[in-house]
Amino acid sequence: MDFGYSPKVEELRIRVRNFMDEYILPRVRQYKEEVHAGIFPVSFMEDLKALAKSEGLWNLFLPHLKDDEPGTGLTNLEYAPLAEIMGRIGWASEVFNCNAPDTGNMELLHMFATPAQRQEWLIPLLNGEIRSAFAMTEPDVASSDATNITTLIKRDGDDYVINGRKWFITNAAHPNCRIFILMGKTDPDADPHHQQSMILVPRDTLGVEIVRNIDIMNHHSPEGHCEIVFRNVRVPAGNLLGEEGSGFALAQARLGPGRIHHCMRSIGGAELALELMVERSQERKTFGKYLHQHGIVSEWIARSRIEIDQARLLVLKTAWMIDNVGAKAASKEISMIKALVPTVFTTVCDRAMQTFGAMGISPDTPLADHWTWGRALRFADGPDEVHLQGIARMEIKKSQKTMGATAAYLTTPDRL
Ligand SMILES: Cc1cc2nc3c(=O)[nH]c(=O)nc-3n(C[C@H](O)[C@H](O)[C@H](O)COP(=O)(O)OP(=O)(O)OC[C@H]3O[C@@H](n4cnc5c(N)ncnc54)[C@H](O)[C@@H]3O)c2cc1C
Repeated sequence: MDFGYSPKVEELRIRVRNFMDEYILPRVRQYKEEVHAGIFPVSFMEDLKALAKSEGLWNLFLPHLKDDEPGTGLTNLEYAPLAEIMGRIGWASEVFNCNAPDTGNMELLHMFATPAQRQEWLIPLLNGEIRSAFAMTEPDVASSDATNITTLIKRDGDDYVINGRKWFITNAAHPNCRIFILMGKTDPDADPHHQQSMILVPRDTLGVEIVRNIDIMNHHSPEGHCEIVFRNVRVPAGNLLGEEGSGFALAQARLGPGRIHHCMRSIGGAELALELMVERSQERKTFGKYLHQHGIVSEWIARSRIEIDQARLLVLKTAWMIDNVGAKAASKEISMIKALVPTVFTTVCDRAMQTFGAMGISPDTPLADHWTWGRALRFADGPDEVHLQGIARMEIKKSQKTMGATAAYLTTPDRL
């Protein structure tokens, strides 16, 4: 077992870190001001993307590149420490074309798109020319159970016609968002896991209406988490992704990589929160002591270090498993990190906010934004409880194969 980063990854870590320090950190204030003024900061985003691309810091998330796909072809394990650095600033990953939900969408298209779909949507996405959204969740049904989805995708001649309402669709308000990957039902009478299909819906199709951009914990994000109505939306039959009835299987394939990327970035956010907490605790004094000299604050620091390192190790193990046995075989580990890391992220942010005093919840630190995003991640890509249920199911199934094997360890007295 090797816990070190390879020379290749170490070199990339330095380059991503330097890029962040030189070009992204100095824009943090401007980004915030423009968002507050209701402007999407496209102006410098496109310049930074061009720079990152020219330096080869581009599409770092995508392994197994095909011929015409720009990127570095890193494994998930190699990408993890780089995503972690990007995760220190909420919007930084877009500069490297490594942001959600586009990465999950690109992986999906990379795996399942037809040649025509690849040319029209995947290549422009990989080049950073357009953005995308993934539309599954609906206001009218409990969407953590994807079999509940009600949006209809109905075949009509050479087209499909879509009717339904979605919400919390991330990226849909991004000015460059051009394509939605929508999940709906093509056959409501089929068995529960073969009713759904995925279809590509260009954002400017007639009948697509973005109703609103929903604030998250009163936090406005410029790329949006939107409510969208699809009213008699007609797209060519060639826009179907995969086969009719394969939507559920495709969703599982998409959510594996998407989930681990969120976790990788969250480790970076937590690490930054700890660094801020440790520094602040050495600057401020109460009752004659620096904050870190109070037992409770030093315990927060120590617990945060333990929890972040535990979480990172599990994320790295999961990345290694995705690389070596595939996302399907790593589904338990993916659920484990998804149920763990956002809570570690918010817990560390919470301690850091407390250490900062009132400033901790002001816009003068990144902590409140990071906490808000960590909290939202306990829903996005499946709520904690669904992941916990999945993990427990797998443990019980495993136990059933060896049921009784622990009997010899029991010391229950014999009953006559
Ligand atoms: C910031 C953000 C971004 C998002 N981005 C997207 C996006 O881009 N595209 C998209 O399609 N969706 C997106 N979502 C939606 C997200 O995927 C859903 O909110 C999530 O799947 C839960 O669905 P729901 O909100 O309908 O909750 P429901 O399904 O109504 O569930 C409510 C609650 O019930 C509990 N629960 C559910 N199942 C179980 C169980 N088995 N055991 C115990 N308790 C359970 C959980 O606590 C859960 O929170 C986003 C959400 C957020 C907050």
